[in-house]
Amino acid sequence: MSRLIRAVIDTQALRANLQTLRKLAPHSRIAAVVKANAYGHGLAHAARALAEADAFAVARIEDGIALRAAGVTRPILILEGVISEDALTEAAQHDFDLMVHDALQIELLRKCACQHRFVLWLKIDTGMNRLGFRCDDFPAALARVRQLPTPAREIRLVTHLARADDRQDATTGEQLERFKAATQGLALATSIANSAAILSRPDTHGDWVRPGLALYGVSPFANESAASFGLVPVMSFETTVIATRRVARGESVGYGGTWRAARDTTLAILAGGYGDGLPRSLRNGTPVLVNKERAPLVGRVSMDMIAVDIGEVADVHVGTSCKLWGPGLPVEEIADCAGTISYELLCGISSRRVLLEVR
Ligand SMILES: *Cc1c(COP(=O)(O)O)cnc(C)c1O
Repeated sequence: MSRLIRAVIDTQALRANLQTLRKLAPHSRIAAVVKANAYGHGLAHAARALAEADAFAVARIEDGIALRAAGVTRPILILEGVISEDALTEAAQHDFDLMVHDALQIELLRKCACQHRFVLWLKIDTGMNRLGFRCDDFPAALARVRQLPTPAREIRLVTHLARADDRQDATTGEQLERFKAATQGLALATSIANSAAILSRPDTHGDWVRPGLALYGVSPFANESAASFGLVPVMSFETTVIATRRVARGESVGYGGTWRAARDTTLAILAGGYGDGLPRSLRNGTPVLVNKERAPLVGRVSMDMIAVDIGEVADVHVGTSCKLWGPGLPVEEIADCAGTISYELLCGISSRRVLLEVR
C-alpha cells in the first residue's frame, strides 16, 4: 500500500548495530531492549532482525506476550517485573525472566503456586531512585530470594545508571562503586550498562549489557554522533509533498501565523503532523530533507501537515518524497529542534497512523 508518510525500517542496519555493540562489549551477553514497540520501530520486525541477541527486554508483560506471539523463543526479561499474582502466573506460562525490585514481588514469588523456576534479575538502586532495593536492604532481599520455596533457575544482579549520557558526570562512577560494594564476593552474573555506558565505559559492561537506543543507530550523547561509534540509523521517517504554493514577502503560514516570509518564496506542504508523531514544539528552521537539500520548516506543526520553505530547492512538486529524519538527517538533531530527546521522537511514531515499511 502506498502511504504518504512512512517510517522505513532498515533491518540490515539493526543487525549491523547489534554486531557493532557485540564488538564494543565482547565479554558480555546482550539483552536487546525492545520496550515501547522497539522504540517505535515495530516490535515483531525488530525482534526478528535481532534474533541473535541473547535475550530481549521489555517494560511490561503484554509486550513480552507479543514477542512470544511473534515467535521469539529466547529469554524475555520484564524490566518492571510484575505486581500481581495473575501477572506472575502469566509470566510463568510464558517463561519470562523477571526483574525483582521490591519486597512485594518477593512475597508474590514466595506465595506463588505455579512452581515455576524463574530467572530473576534482582535490581539494586545505586542512585537512580526509581526502582530497586537500596544497597542497605539488598542483602536481606537476596537472602529471601535465595530461600524461595521454588528456587530461582538463576539470580542476576542489576542496576541502572542515571547519567551515563554525560561522560563528565561523576555519578556513573559513584553508582558503579556502590554496585561493586553491594555485590562484592557474590558469584552471580551482573548487568549495569545501557547504551551510553556500553559506548563510553567498558568498566560497566559486566556479564549482561542492555542496549536500547544504540541498537536503533542513535547516539545517546549530546555531542557525539552515532556514526562516530559505527552505528547506522535504522529508521528513516519519510513523507510526501501534497501541495506547493507561492507566498509573497510578509505573508504568513499556518495557525497563529508564527512565521512570516522575509521574501517572496515557495512553500511545500508536507503530509505529517503531531497526529503522526512530529512534535508541535518543532521550531521554525528545523531542517527537512527535500531532494537531498535541507529546507527549513516554517510555521506551526499542524495535526496532519507541516510547511517547508523550498525557495532554495529545485524541482519540488506534488508527490516529491522528503525525509523528516534518518540517514543524512540524524533524529538527534531533530529532537534538539523540538527541545526533546531522540527517544521521545522515536517512541512517538504512531503505529496506528504511520506505515512501518520494513526493508
Ligand atoms: C530502557 C532501558 C535500557 C536501555 O536504555 P538505552 O539508553 O536506550 O540504551 C536499559 N535498562 C533499563 C532498565 C531500561 O529501562
